Amino acid sequence: MARGLATTFGRLTRRSVTAQYPDSLPELPPRSRGVIALLEENCTVCMLCARECPDWCIYIDSHKEEQPPATPGGKPRQRNVLDRFAIDFSLCMYCGICIEACPFDALFWSPEFEYAELDIRDLTHERDRLREWMWTVPPPPADDPGAVEPKEVEAAAKAAGRDTGAPSRRATGERAGPGGSAPAARPPRPPRAGPGESGA
Ligand code: SF4
Ligand code: SF4
Repeated sequence: MARGLATTFGRLTRRSVTAQYPDSLPELPPRSRGVIALLEENCTVCMLCARECPDWCIYIDSHKEEQPPATPGGKPRQRNVLDRFAIDFSLCMYCGICIEACPFDALFWSPEFEYAELDIRDLTHERDRLREWMWTVPPPPADDPGAVEPKEVEAAAKAAGRDTGAPSRRATGERAGPGGSAPAARPPRPPRAGPGESGA
């Protein structure tokens, strides 16, 4: 009993570590998985994310549009046009497979988590809402100083006739990383909403 009381009094004198959410927002780790954001401009409607999703909670509809030929007299081309892109977050298990699978850097994690709903149907976020989450995606971490230049940057620098200064991928014999492309430019992140001003 004495030991129990000693523990109680010991705790009473310590500062509380309980975060008074929602009055104070938590300090989240940098790569927190809050919600998935869609950079619609990068999406080619390849359907890879929907096929790889283990929960089948990504819904994509599209149609084909004919494009003028690239060269005079050539064959007209066809392009997929996105009609619907939605993610049902009531089914999503936040595994991140869709983000890993996307070859065009169209999906990103946002740390925002304040999108609870009273109606479960509202947890299906359509493309406009998924696009809006892009504004909350943090910028990518800085490159490792010793990292090799991505091949796209290397090629662009070569085309522009300048040296980037970073070790060449060809010179080091390294292969491109997963996805093989540099992240798309992301818009700046606006200040977070205060308590009671959730974006969801
Ligand atoms: S995070 Fe996983 S479960 Fe959620 S949409 Fe992506 S692939 Fe599906
Ligand atoms: S994998 Fe990427 S590019 Fe393909 S449909 Fe999904 S979001 Fe769009």
